[in-house]
Amino acid sequence: SAPQPKKPDWIRVKAPTSEGYKATRDIMREHKLVTVCEEAGCPNVGECWSQGHATMMIMGEICTRGCTFCNVATGRPDTLDVFEPGRVADAVKKLGLNHVVITSVDRDDVDDGGAEHFAQTIRAIRRQSPGTTIEILTPDFLKSKPGSLEIVVAAKPDVFNHNLETVPGLYPEVRPGARYFHSLRLLQRVKEIDPSMFTKSGIMVGLGEDKQGVHQVMDDMRAADIDFLTIGQYLQPTPKHHAVDRFVTPEEFASYEKAARGKGFLMVSATPLTRSSYHAGEDFAQLRAA
Ligand code: SF4
Ligand code: SF4
Repeated sequence: SAPQPKKPDWIRVKAPTSEGYKATRDIMREHKLVTVCEEAGCPNVGECWSQGHATMMIMGEICTRGCTFCNVATGRPDTLDVFEPGRVADAVKKLGLNHVVITSVDRDDVDDGGAEHFAQTIRAIRRQSPGTTIEILTPDFLKSKPGSLEIVVAAKPDVFNHNLETVPGLYPEVRPGARYFHSLRLLQRVKEIDPSMFTKSGIMVGLGEDKQGVHQVMDDMRAADIDFLTIGQYLQPTPKHHAVDRFVTPEEFASYEKAARGKGFLMVSATPLTRSSYHAGEDFAQLRAA
């Protein structure tokens, strides 16, 4: 494979050592929960976990898809754990979060794609932590039975996030098994079903897209009424994963952020270390206070 560009100094990773980090780790272990923070080797784990901000990944550690940027194992997953929604809710309560982000692997092996499991998780969190706002980051339900998306929306998460991940031209090599316009339409349907729900999406840059492509994705997202946008630098989890094409400069990120605000997104985060769930709670609280 091609030699990888050297990591610039704006991609800095602080080693996670704080007491808060350890407390969060212990709560995750105690409740046997998987986090995308660890699975993805997220560079923000020290900062986020020191404040209890862990993004739990439900429905197992094995995914039925094999996106080439993603460090989650592909294969045949275990059956869904009916006790998991309760454990997630217990952990959220213990973490004392104002805002929680719940994500999952893709479950093409389950009829409803795990929609009911998502809904149960949302309801379990609501019961125990009625003051916590809930953001879900879902798979695309591409192969799920009709009505699956409606099941999730009916559980009323505060923010419905689904990542487009990259420009359409890179889907075959980055997100095989997914369809760009299906994902876009999924988010548009969420808004149609429940116009009061905030919708959110994000992409990674540095995968081989060009600037014009990034602007086109933003326009597509606004056409689908998507409210919030995240753009972050792609980092290669292991040498077997999709190569980093380039490190996008902080200036280019700033220009995307400015353009996105001009296009009408309500909330935008575009920095090298932005991830879907990075500062999601703070940003959402600010928006609601405004
Ligand atoms: Fe976890 Fe998201 Fe923070 Fe990364 S940015 S550590 S995935 S909560
Ligand atoms: Fe990773 Fe999600 Fe793709 Fe599965 S669907 S491989 S968890 S990015």
